[in-house]
Amino acid sequence: MTRILVVGCGFAGATVARELADAGWEVDMIDQRSHIAGNAFDEIDCNGIRIHRYGPHLFHTSNKRVIDWIARFGEFVTYEHRVQARLPDGRCVVLPINRATINDVFGVTLNDSEAVRAFLLTQAVDIAHPANAAEYLATKVGVILSDLFFRPYTRKMWGLDLEDLDASVVKRIPLRYDNEDRYFPGETYQVMPRLGYTRLFEVILDHPCIRVCLNQSFDASMLRGYVHCFNSMPIDAFFDYRIGRLPYRSIRFHHHTVRFDYGCGSAATINFTDAGPLTRETDWTRIQGHVVRQGPSKTITREEPCDYSENNHERYYPVKTSDGRYQVLYSRYKALAAAVANVSFIGRCGTYQYLDMHQVISQSLAHVSAWIDQRRSSGSVKGSPLSSSSEPSGRFACTPNIGLSAGS
Ligand SMILES: Cc1cc2nc3c(=O)[nH]c(=O)nc-3n(C[C@H](O)[C@H](O)[C@H](O)COP(=O)(O)OP(=O)(O)OC[C@H]3O[C@@H](n4cnc5c(N)ncnc54)[C@H](O)[C@@H]3O)c2cc1C
Repeated sequence: MTRILVVGCGFAGATVARELADAGWEVDMIDQRSHIAGNAFDEIDCNGIRIHRYGPHLFHTSNKRVIDWIARFGEFVTYEHRVQARLPDGRCVVLPINRATINDVFGVTLNDSEAVRAFLLTQAVDIAHPANAAEYLATKVGVILSDLFFRPYTRKMWGLDLEDLDASVVKRIPLRYDNEDRYFPGETYQVMPRLGYTRLFEVILDHPCIRVCLNQSFDASMLRGYVHCFNSMPIDAFFDYRIGRLPYRSIRFHHHTVRFDYGCGSAATINFTDAGPLTRETDWTRIQGHVVRQGPSKTITREEPCDYSENNHERYYPVKTSDGRYQVLYSRYKALAAAVANVSFIGRCGTYQYLDMHQVISQSLAHVSAWIDQRRSSGSVKGSPLSSSSEPSGRFACTPNIGLSAGS
């Protein structure tokens, strides 16, 4: 028996599937959605604009192993993302907060990084051990900037007050003392797939040992007939929510057609810091390669966060509260998973953590190569491409490979 089941056709599942196939295993992939590429799925809309159905996905990494791996499957173009914040009074300023932002907000003229550090020290609150996001931000930027940029935004994004949010969530947000306005300046590779993510996934999955079956939800009975299952579905759903539900924030995406000359400035994304329901707006035409056919109109997308139960159970962001209660619940699910020998949980929902795409690829590469090595050292015979192994006893039939499958 050489077949392996992979649940989920996002970056986690696709990375694992391709590595297994290259090592000679036969892989059946399923996804409950009608398309591959998971949350990175993109498509060209009626305005001729490439849009990402689940929000803007910017590829950035300094991990050479990841970029070398992904570059095997398509061409990439350089794209450096920039974001602005629209303040409640309508002014737009640079985000993440940098020297220009501070000068604009406070009406001061700080000329260098040292002046910015000194100024922020006058704002910062001294808290020895910040216990939550509010306290962490107070120690870094002080209460004025925190209340302006982060308090209403956090409430609408997470449905939580800063005091209830774990500090690790806001630690991801950089703070700049110079005038750097790129969103990911520290990353060596800031790129986008030239023909889009969906095409990239088509190439990753185009392998004679990979079969893809869309519109197919996981069912435990599918495990019969497979030597192993790599599973990127939500771990609590796998266990039928036996010990409780792991919450997620979700986002409703509102796509609007506007005149091509709508908007100003150079930022592709504008974050709204006011107390309204929307968090941000993306102008796809400002992302390299996203105007596929230019016409009189273009598409912009606005995001409205909500609980995942209010959005068809679309799970986007694992919730991290300052008391850590959901991480404790996840660790209990992880313990249950450790007892299921033939299933590995992978990806964002399988491991209940927010991960960027490069992190998912990196973790999946490490995970699957350890699994392949372990099988080899335990004397298991690897599968051989196109070998005629027994059919799985699951209840579905997969197409031979993604090049032949519909719906993508
Ligand atoms: C709004 C938003 C913006 C983001 N922006 C960026 C960004 O700019 N840069 C970046 O690096 N990362 C970004 N990310 C993160 C990125 O989406 C993830 O790193 C990546 O999608 C994780 O891949 P995955 O395979 O773990 O999960 P997913 O892409 O979610 O794939 C999991 C797949 O499993 C399927 N599935 C789930 N349950 C079942 C089931 N029971 N049966 C069958 N199939 C199932 C789902 O349909 C899904 O297609 C963003 C995420 C969001 C939500």
